[in-house]
Amino acid sequence: MTACPMCSRWETNFDLQIIELQHSYVTLNRDQYFPGYTLLFTKDHVTELFHLERSERSSLMEEVSIVAKALHGIYKPSKINYELLGNMVPHIHWHIVPRFSSEPLWPRPIWAEQHEERLLLPHEQQQHIETIRRALS
Ligand SMILES: [Zn+2]
Repeated sequence: MTACPMCSRWETNFDLQIIELQHSYVTLNRDQYFPGYTLLFTKDHVTELFHLERSERSSLMEEVSIVAKALHGIYKPSKINYELLGNMVPHIHWHIVPRFSSEPLWPRPIWAEQHEERLLLPHEQQQHIETIRRALS
């Protein structure tokens, strides 16, 4: 078991795994207050986009785009938000979040205000994961 919280997230949260891509891992966020909220994080320990070789960066951005496109097709949001902060863990990771103009938080960032966590039942969670995985494969 690795000490890195992001590596161990993939290894230990089997129930949230969506798909492994060439440069990244894609998982469902456990809190589904925003339906379809997905995380994509690099396999490598890298903290800045400019640390990557151009070709690797392009491939990674392509992976972000295909995940966002899949989420857009499934959830039909008003907008996809991409949040890349990386202050807590040494992996570039995106919060890829379908956003709806009907939300109480719209149009502010997802972290603008605290909200109740929405944890899905295991079979609901599995349904979201399988739908997203199918759209990606
Ligand atoms: Zn790691």
